[in-house]
Amino acid sequence: MIDTHSHLFEAEFQEDLELCIQRCKENNVHKIILVGFSESTNSKAYDLSLKYDIFYPTAGMHPSEADCDFEKKFQMLVDFIQSHKIYAIGECGLDYHYGKENAEYQKKLFEYQILLAIEKDLPLIVHSRDAMKDTWDILSKYKGKIRGVMHCYSGSWEMAKEYIKLGFYISLGGPVTFKNAVESKRIAKEIPLDKLLVETDCPFLAPTPYRGKRNESAYVWYVVKEIADIRGISFKQVEEQTEKNSKIVFGL
Ligand SMILES: [Zn+2]
Repeated sequence: MIDTHSHLFEAEFQEDLELCIQRCKENNVHKIILVGFSESTNSKAYDLSLKYDIFYPTAGMHPSEADCDFEKKFQMLVDFIQSHKIYAIGECGLDYHYGKENAEYQKKLFEYQILLAIEKDLPLIVHSRDAMKDTWDILSKYKGKIRGVMHCYSGSWEMAKEYIKLGFYISLGGPVTFKNAVESKRIAKEIPLDKLLVETDCPFLAPTPYRGKRNESAYVWYVVKEIADIRGISFKQVEEQTEKNSKIVFGL
């Protein structure tokens, strides 16, 4: 399995990172996309990937970075990827749950990163929270030029189909295991298996039975199991196909 969205560089893992990696290996999670989202975390992700070959780093600027300094921060990102091999641009996108007052900065910072991904021919990792319409309005302008992942997708199945047409994969995480996650379960059932990715977004969004606790990459196992159960197919089938998809998206 491949966890396509992990923040194992976070302070939550400082004490037991080696054990977390060990648990990944025991659970057949053998590649992890380590997702940066700010100047410091882009460096942390990259540095850890030099130390452990299970990690593949990305670099991006999260919408929470979108303040009046966003132009400077974007330039830092451009400079960073000039000299560091990364596997995707992101996470980036729009978050109106937090920071809606910075919506205009967020949109610009997002669009800059879309253009950067096109220029560098890299996939985009898109974060969208409470901002589905604006996310769509911006991304759909670049139809035919962009590709990537809708990370921890929380929209409707109808919109998911549109994102797939736009060149995106849909990534499901811990929430698909939650009892009340009706729409995520619907997507898990309906989506063509060759458009699906799995992730943890750890340390956040731990799956059942760890809901509310610290999440870690080894738990991506629960996401695969839930999807297999919903579809009534084998664990192995979901494991193999999502792994294949991850390799295509990130060029692993
Ligand atoms: Zn994330």
